[in-house]
Amino acid sequence: MSGHKHPSTIPIVQIAIDPALSAYRAEINYIWRALLTGMGYGWRESAWGKEPVTVVYTATPAQAPPARIVIQARPERWAAPAKVRLLGARQWQGYDLPLLDGDDRQTQPVVENGSTFVAGDPIFAAFWLLSGYEEDQYPILKHGYRDLSDAPMLEDGLLRRAPVSAIGCWLADLLQQCGLPAGLPRWPYGARLAASCGHDVDYPEVVRWLEPLRILIRQGVGGLGTALDVLRGRRTHWHFRSWMELEERIGARSAFYFVARKGSLLEYATGLPDPFYDVQAPHFRALFRELSAAGWEIGLHASYRAYTDCKLLIAERTRLAAASGQPINGNRHHYWHLDPHRPEQTLLMHEQAGFRYDASLTHNRYLGWRRSSVWPFFPWHRDLRRPIRVLQLPTGWMDDHLFGQRRFNPGDRQALLNELRETVTRQEGLLLVDVHDYVYDDALFPGWAATYRTLWETLATQGGVWFAAPAAIADHWLQRMAHIESVSEGLDHNSL
Ligand SMILES: [Zn+2]
Repeated sequence: MSGHKHPSTIPIVQIAIDPALSAYRAEINYIWRALLTGMGYGWRESAWGKEPVTVVYTATPAQAPPARIVIQARPERWAAPAKVRLLGARQWQGYDLPLLDGDDRQTQPVVENGSTFVAGDPIFAAFWLLSGYEEDQYPILKHGYRDLSDAPMLEDGLLRRAPVSAIGCWLADLLQQCGLPAGLPRWPYGARLAASCGHDVDYPEVVRWLEPLRILIRQGVGGLGTALDVLRGRRTHWHFRSWMELEERIGARSAFYFVARKGSLLEYATGLPDPFYDVQAPHFRALFRELSAAGWEIGLHASYRAYTDCKLLIAERTRLAAASGQPINGNRHHYWHLDPHRPEQTLLMHEQAGFRYDASLTHNRYLGWRRSSVWPFFPWHRDLRRPIRVLQLPTGWMDDHLFGQRRFNPGDRQALLNELRETVTRQEGLLLVDVHDYVYDDALFPGWAATYRTLWETLATQGGVWFAAPAAIADHWLQRMAHIESVSEGLDHNSL
């Protein structure tokens, strides 16, 4: 990002952490850093009981040293996060915060002698959701998809309310009630939220004898005319320019994620669903030149099995960089296909492959935020006990959620998207969506492109939105984070 000046002062939160929590300090430091960074506050850690501070985080609030805010920690949860269960949500000052097993729905922060006491450990809840303990509890389906049937995350609509960044917003409000100034804004140019789209490029070229059959399966006999059009070559999936024109009208830029491994029909038929195109073909090279000249980003759509071996992922990134003549900073996995049992292993590979950001932590079936945050974050690695150094840009909506996966997301389409828009606006977050490249033609995919266009037009009308390509958003966030860290002390990643 150029041209954007950060304010010279960032408000600092004095924080002290109970030595009784020392066994979990790596995790505790991680989540406090993630929350404070999102909130726009720097931190200065004080030795326990040495001086009055803004916030103490303690297992025994009654014995806490003087602080404006005293937050209770639940060491038994930190000791066994896999045993914790989500019950639903509770309302605190207008935010939907997670309600975990053992929490009292009625509990609210209490002000006594000028200090605010918070019970129920929302800090742990933020860690637990952001690092994926909640999603671990659901059955794993084909392609690594999760079945959230009957889960509060789905039933109570929590997926659409991003309870982790909600905890950050609630905490920021609490700090301001204690007299601290507002935190560093999250987005440049006075914007309240950021909006971005990554188009997964799966089928930019139709197989002329096969695609008509697929249309008939999808649309029935009503699709006969369109199927014939495709058979005769009158309709195609090659709509890069159409998307560019749509976005140009709004002043938006987006990314196109390309698969750099060429699959085949035979592979497809035998269970390896990689696309059939070759990024090294001359018409793709010409397309890459056109996209980048106009300010669109080119990213990797890692192939279906790329997660199984870091060498494959690196080779794909290298191949796309060579074909497009530029470094590839961002990634999203085809089919959201991460290691089904240990997604963090795939996220760690992104670090080894040298990506700056990834955008793959999304439920294929359900719209909303899989890790409960509308703020970018570094994912936690449980075994290494450190954050993975590749920024995760959370994708909140994929077009297919409201079409192919419609039965898992009942309700009015625009109402569901409005709920996402309201959450992002309220929490001043990022609305990153996934709209496939091949769904532009309204006859082939009725309503798909229009749904995206309506959402983007509504945002543009709403105002205060920074429309940018995902890589620009990641760069801004990393720069902002470096600025916050440069004025902060303590909560170190390696203080084990
Ligand atoms: Zn894909």
